[in-house]
Amino acid sequence: MARHFDLIVIGAGPAGAACATTAAKAGLRTALVDRKRFPRDKLCGGGLTGRATGHYARIFGAPLPDVPMTQRDSFEFHAFGERLDTGEHAPPIHLLMRRDFDADLVERALSAGAMDFTGRSGTLHCEAPAIDLPGLRLTAPLVVAADGVNSPTAKRLFGAAYDRDRIGFALEVERPGDSGDAPLRIDFGAAEWGYGWQFPKADGTTIGLGGVLRRNPDMKAALNAYLAALGVTEDLTVKGQFLPFGAFRAVPGRGRILLAGDAAGLVDPITGEGIAHALRSGELAARAAIRALAAGAPDSALEVYTDALHPIHSGLRQARILRQLMFRRPLRPAFLRSFRNSRSLKTEYLRLLAGETEYAAIMAGMARRLPGLAWRALRGQ
Ligand SMILES: Cc1cc2nc3c(=O)[nH]c(=O)nc-3n(C[C@H](O)[C@H](O)[C@H](O)COP(=O)(O)OP(=O)(O)OC[C@H]3O[C@@H](n4cnc5c(N)ncnc54)[C@H](O)[C@@H]3O)c2cc1C
Repeated sequence: MARHFDLIVIGAGPAGAACATTAAKAGLRTALVDRKRFPRDKLCGGGLTGRATGHYARIFGAPLPDVPMTQRDSFEFHAFGERLDTGEHAPPIHLLMRRDFDADLVERALSAGAMDFTGRSGTLHCEAPAIDLPGLRLTAPLVVAADGVNSPTAKRLFGAAYDRDRIGFALEVERPGDSGDAPLRIDFGAAEWGYGWQFPKADGTTIGLGGVLRRNPDMKAALNAYLAALGVTEDLTVKGQFLPFGAFRAVPGRGRILLAGDAAGLVDPITGEGIAHALRSGELAARAAIRALAAGAPDSALEVYTDALHPIHSGLRQARILRQLMFRRPLRPAFLRSFRNSRSLKTEYLRLLAGETEYAAIMAGMARRLPGLAWRALRGQ
């Protein structure tokens, strides 16, 4: 049996759910496919920044997801075992479990009119887009693949889901128990070219670390050292996942197949934040599909989408430059000194997390502060 749609969305995480919701709300016949049935687990810190909640409210038409959540506006920053600073009354971060959040997203996409094909694995045909599910073929002029960092679709299109030299990797444990009013904690130096985190949640605390994979040959040992430093002695299950830490695809797709979210590599290379870009890229992919289909030109969708992603791509490029200041060994002491002593640097970091500023503004500030030579050397890297 075959069913025809205007758009097939593969993957129902933040990027896929945002895409399916936007498309269905605009009247596109939209199929939402995921190999998992929801609720399903997803390894993640579950930190929703102000940028993410802003996208969520616009796309789904509700201020916040209706799931168990805590909110924190106090931070602790540490580096190499030393407390750098604390921050109070910062722009708040919402902390939740992805199992709950993603189920909320899928429910909203289906309420918007997307057809439910979750809980089934399929085979994608790329040329004349179609996906074969058990006993059923779905066809559509356009496909958005939001199938995560290990994207089987990106693998089909480009031979690999990500570049192993540039990919990030992260490990996490869930520590049960009341987190009280513990602040959100960031530990620079817990991983090379990355950091460690402690995120208090409604029913426990997520503790993890992540960084560029090739610079952390023994991430498990780094996690054990981090847990020991935090005084965590329980035997907790460790889970790991790749993280496309700034290694995005300049052309996010091929032909009539568009990639969104982690599948397109849209994770911030400094903060590791990916939910906000996943939501936004899913929305933009849907808008590109709506426009291309209205013009009777599905082949134009990829170009429209690539143009629309320009602000995200340019922010990620700028973050890749800036992260050298934070993570390169010779520059690290100066960065940590500045972070400890400069209120404005911490404020900018927190405003960045809140979605109240962008890397372009931070880059402009750095250009004013750094000596010309150092700045040019950094940009030339
Ligand atoms: C340890 C860790 C901590 C993180 N912490 C944070 C954080 O605190 N805040 C933040 O903003 N970001 C965080 N991130 C990043 C964030 O998790 C991702 O950027 C985000 O989930 C990307 O959303 P997505 O929709 O692109 O992909 P995903 O959320 O990965 O969803 C992909 C979906 O595709 C489905 N799928 C996969 N293959 C197929 C297939 N063949 N067919 C059908 N469906 C398929 C999967 O089942 C899944 O539902 C973290 C990442 C890691 C690894």
